[in-house]
Amino acid sequence: MKRILVTGGAGFIGSHLCERLLSLGHEVVCLDNYFTGSKMNIIHLMHNPYFELIRHDVTMPIYVETDEIYNLACPASPIHYQYNGIKTIKTSVMGAINTLGLAKRTKSKILQASTSEVYGDPEVHPQNEAYWGNVNTLGPRACYDEGKRCAETLFMNYHDQNKVRIKIARIFNTYGPKMNSHDGRVVSNFIVQALKGKDITIYGDGSHTRSFQYVDDLIDGLIKLMDTPDSFTGPVNLGNPIEITISSLAHTIIKMTGSKSKIIYLPLPQDDPKQRKPDITLAKRELDWSPKVDAETGLAKTVEYFRRVL
Ligand code: NAD
Ligand code: UDP
Repeated sequence: MKRILVTGGAGFIGSHLCERLLSLGHEVVCLDNYFTGSKMNIIHLMHNPYFELIRHDVTMPIYVETDEIYNLACPASPIHYQYNGIKTIKTSVMGAINTLGLAKRTKSKILQASTSEVYGDPEVHPQNEAYWGNVNTLGPRACYDEGKRCAETLFMNYHDQNKVRIKIARIFNTYGPKMNSHDGRVVSNFIVQALKGKDITIYGDGSHTRSFQYVDDLIDGLIKLMDTPDSFTGPVNLGNPIEITISSLAHTIIKMTGSKSKIIYLPLPQDDPKQRKPDITLAKRELDWSPKVDAETGLAKTVEYFRRVL
């Protein structure tokens, strides 16, 4: 049994990770400041004696004994990370410094939840890990993108200088149950709008693309990455390479929910990436990982979840 710290553990991905790590027989310490996460995501774990919850902000130093750390703390939805850009950068950068310092002291292995946003609005398609990206340092997404890029740099510096055992996962768009219904990301927005009979809000003309992975696949990938030999640090893409347009996502969700919602078109936010699709050759080779859950199954489970909570 290992003692594993999950920062951002009360969030969407973090809560699924805490659940899985407990089911694998580990002790889990979940740390969160509840900015975008919620105790409701982990309330069912509270009775478990191997689960502990700490209300804490990763911008402050952390003292806890651990074997492994998953650093997920950071708002992930554009509306939330842009709400207070300075705080978002502090969370990524100081959160990385504090968790890396902890890993150095406790000799823990540490995994960083990085993002496909490090590729910005990509000029290389699909995106592989060798691509350096195309990020506007001054745009509205920069607080998130540059914070995550700097965190990757810090991870590599701690690895090179202090021999900290690191893993960097570049996570592509992920969806599933426990997304916050007010989160603002496209899958939750469209499902909530469809179920409530409200207008489906496509930003732009709907021709831009994303590649969506179901959360269970991501959790498999994160755990496999943590278990790779120390010589493998990543970065490694974790995402589903099936690319779709936002317009086709809207039509699929309308059909699945039997909704009478109309589609409306709103302005595309500044610097919104036009296309995104992971090259997962590296993950296949090094982790023996590829996504298993198809869109029909994943979306059906997510719709069922939102029907229950709304
Ligand atoms: P989320 O917003 O649901 O979860 C983030 C969690 O971090 C929340 O519980 C929030 O309260 C907590 N948090 C935020 N700032 C904090 C701070 N300063 N101190 C402590 N806790 C803090 O988002 P998510 O989708 O679960 O994303 C989890 C991680 O995965 C994030 O680091 C995100 O950047 C990364 N990621 C997610 C996606 C995706 O599609 N969901 C894609 C790429 C990367
Ligand atoms: N999007 C949309 N309508 C919405 C929310 C998002 O058309 O109600 C678009 C958004 O402009 C982007 C894509 O869907 O092109 C994915 O947005 P999301 O915020 O989920 O993730 P990210 O932009 O970070 O990939």
